[in-house]
Amino acid sequence: MESQLNEAKELWSQFIAGLEGIETAETCDMFFKPMVPLALEDKTMTLAVDTPFIKDWIMGNYAKLIEDRLSQLHLAPITIKLVVDPELHKEEKAAAKQARTKQISAEPEQSVSETKEQAKVAAPVLPTREDPYQTLSGRVFNPNYTFNSFVMGDSNHLALAAANAVAEKPGQHYNPLFIYGGVGIGKTHLLHAIGQFILLKRPQTKIIYCSGSDFVQEVVEATTGCGKFDNTGYNNFVQKYRNNCDVLLIDDIQFISGKERTQTELFHIFNFLYEAGKQIVVTSDKLPQEIPDLAERLRSRFQCGLIADIQNPELDTRVSIIMKKAKDAGFSISNDVAMYIAKALPANVRILEGALKRVMAHSTLTGRPLTLDYAKQILADVCTTKTETISVEDIQKAVSDFYHLDTKALSSSCRTKAVARPRQVAMYLCRKHINASFPALAKEFKRKDHTTVMSACKKIASLLGKEDEELIAEISSIERALNK
Ligand code: ADP
Ligand code: MG
Repeated sequence: MESQLNEAKELWSQFIAGLEGIETAETCDMFFKPMVPLALEDKTMTLAVDTPFIKDWIMGNYAKLIEDRLSQLHLAPITIKLVVDPELHKEEKAAAKQARTKQISAEPEQSVSETKEQAKVAAPVLPTREDPYQTLSGRVFNPNYTFNSFVMGDSNHLALAAANAVAEKPGQHYNPLFIYGGVGIGKTHLLHAIGQFILLKRPQTKIIYCSGSDFVQEVVEATTGCGKFDNTGYNNFVQKYRNNCDVLLIDDIQFISGKERTQTELFHIFNFLYEAGKQIVVTSDKLPQEIPDLAERLRSRFQCGLIADIQNPELDTRVSIIMKKAKDAGFSISNDVAMYIAKALPANVRILEGALKRVMAHSTLTGRPLTLDYAKQILADVCTTKTETISVEDIQKAVSDFYHLDTKALSSSCRTKAVARPRQVAMYLCRKHINASFPALAKEFKRKDHTTVMSACKKIASLLGKEDEELIAEISSIERALNK
């Protein structure tokens, strides 16, 4: 047993050492180095990884490379087997996270450079192009929205890795890829990054990129008057998607909600492309099951690939994003100013970017150096809220204090009205203020199924919609406590 383990370890370390120059340092650090060899038995090497997603991703993208290299080194054929161990590297991850959080609150200077360093290591690297790519739909990709300029954090790790996998091998994994998350947190950025990455590697790829509302409009135009004189418009529309599309990227797919004809056309296009092995990526601000008036058959198509969520970035990622955006704009910003903006504006990255542009413009136009005091002065009107980020724990505490409950009750299995209602309120407030995904909240509240969180949020939202005065007063009071 022991010798098998040693042999596996020895072989694996030779494999890692031999990767230099074959794979990028980023791919090695992100995927290969964290894998742990467990055994080498009957020509099978067993390796542990920490999540099912990483397991799938490695099996889909790298199994052959790993097996070929291991077989060469071992001088005999080797196959690999991956097992998922969620406990893997748990201590290192917790320690790294704690160190990051500690440094951020104690020493902004150090934490910023550290998180920046991490972001640099994690992002897949690609050369950039000067001229913007144009897609078949006439839309132009934003040259600033690439994988290089996307800062990785816990909040977007899964979506970034999936987007990267899809861009590397379109149509081979995660089809469709469904990226979902709140407003202004990088969904469009990732979609453009996928498109530009594919065109950079395979310039002949036919990409159609449009928004959900463009698609609705296109269907209306193609079908209006259809059949009266001739079907040319409609035929052209169908041919475009059938014969001229290797990759279909649709941004903000939620706009097809309630549009029956559009959904029918999309369903047929989807089936055709899917069966032909073409890649489909869509983004949405809602999960497929949350999009109202969406045909069941389309909903189930969206659910059959990978659903990757992006959450609101954590403080350290927000700081890294500000530093990177400022640097890319050729502006030097101090760590304390970046930290101030990141703490004051937790809502989403777009707002963060707006604040950054504003301070950069003021400083450039007046010629005044951007000190912390000057930044505070410029942003006085937008940064009126509390400068701390609200966490799930803060909300759970504020809610349980208000209803005189033990905080633990909110995550318990108790279903009495006295607990169920505060739990629903807490879930609703988490969704509202933190923009956390339903699955993430299900975990925080120890619920097996995220649909519980969804219906809680719906329930509270609907009561508020009906102007339930008692509830409105309760929620305002809790929100005031949170903002103190
Ligand atoms: P969404 O489509 O989710 O509403 P966008 O993709 O338009 O959001 O992102 C809004 C802005 O925030 C863009 O300028 C984008 O570059 C930036 N952004 C969001 N997340 C990141 C990130 N992780 N790294 C770098 N920039 C980001
Ligand atoms: Mg968008």
